Amino acid sequence: MLFDPRPKEKLKDIFDRENEVELLKRSLDSPLIIISGLRRTGKTSLVKSVLNEVKAIHIFLDMRRFENREYIVYKDFLGVLEREVNSITKKWKGVLDHFKAVKGVSVAGMSLSFSWGKERTEFSDVLSSLNDWANEKGRNVTVVIDEAQELMKLKGYDVLPSIAYAFDNLRNVNFIITGSEVRVKTKFLKLEKENSPLYGRAHVEVNVNTFDKETSIKFLEKGFEEQGINFRKGEEVYEGLGGNPGWLTYYGYVYVKEGDGQAMEYTRMYARKLLSKELCDFLVEGGRLGSKERYLRVLETCKSGCSWKDIKNALEALEGREVNDGTVHTILQNLLDYSFLVLEGKGKYFLADPLMKELND
Ligand code: ADP
Repeated sequence: MLFDPRPKEKLKDIFDRENEVELLKRSLDSPLIIISGLRRTGKTSLVKSVLNEVKAIHIFLDMRRFENREYIVYKDFLGVLEREVNSITKKWKGVLDHFKAVKGVSVAGMSLSFSWGKERTEFSDVLSSLNDWANEKGRNVTVVIDEAQELMKLKGYDVLPSIAYAFDNLRNVNFIITGSEVRVKTKFLKLEKENSPLYGRAHVEVNVNTFDKETSIKFLEKGFEEQGINFRKGEEVYEGLGGNPGWLTYYGYVYVKEGDGQAMEYTRMYARKLLSKELCDFLVEGGRLGSKERYLRVLETCKSGCSWKDIKNALEALEGREVNDGTVHTILQNLLDYSFLVLEGKGKYFLADPLMKELND
């Protein structure tokens, strides 16, 4: 059902995305795949549906659960890892045997327990054990790290050396990393940073973009058709919400449950709440509250697209004095990194989501 508000798990429920599905399927034997895109564009849905379709053995490390946390520790990560590895040990006999001699792992019945105490379980050892088992079975284990940028909050432990070790040595383990493009690639994996463990590693990238107008309208029509509703207001809805599949799905869901009257208003409220929380976290967690007015002014200036010069002028008007280029650059880069702005051809900056226009109101 297209209007199910949860991430889709089956390809038959995924609308459009034929190219992305094909690319992902074709690349499943690559050691590192990055699925990038704005919030709610369908990254998780794409990964889950493709892995289920090809019956890939996988663990799904959902880092979105840490969204509201200021920081996380290794124990938090290990808890998620332990649960996911146990879902494999329950399905596949013989996995447990490969964990028996691993430091910091205890086996009880059909389950494993990981330890974060003195003898802590190392992520690289867990990957090695999964690799040994997969190798024996002639299979592959895919490790999905969903919304991986949340791992930048992990204190006291670095998962990158383990991923790099697996990349270089473990032929039967591969990674799918999802998240916002800049933060995952540049800030978390640091693929372009010379002293990063993952520097220069080859990877496949799948971009999941928002729907264009025509696709958005077709998505709505198909979703409503599934519900036996003949829907003709696709264009109006696109004008109100833009082409984010997450918002369109929510609109359809509310429309079916509550009727036409509430759907647009509720969806806009839902999207605004989510976006404003993200903006708030960005300002508070990033220690940017002192510059809040500057950030809001830049977003305001970019409502209908603006140039670098427009932004500099707007900041100078706000402060009544000259603002140096370095400051403008930092503010813009932060807003791009966190996907609040996008840079389009001809050096113009736009709001990444049209609904952000209403955040200041
Ligand atoms: P992300 O992981 O990018 O945040 P999700 O996979 O959680 O996005 O999708 C957000 C919402 O949009 C979910 O309700 C999901 O069901 C829906 N959705 C996204 N893309 C599609 C698609 N191509 N077809 C059907 N529903 C989609």
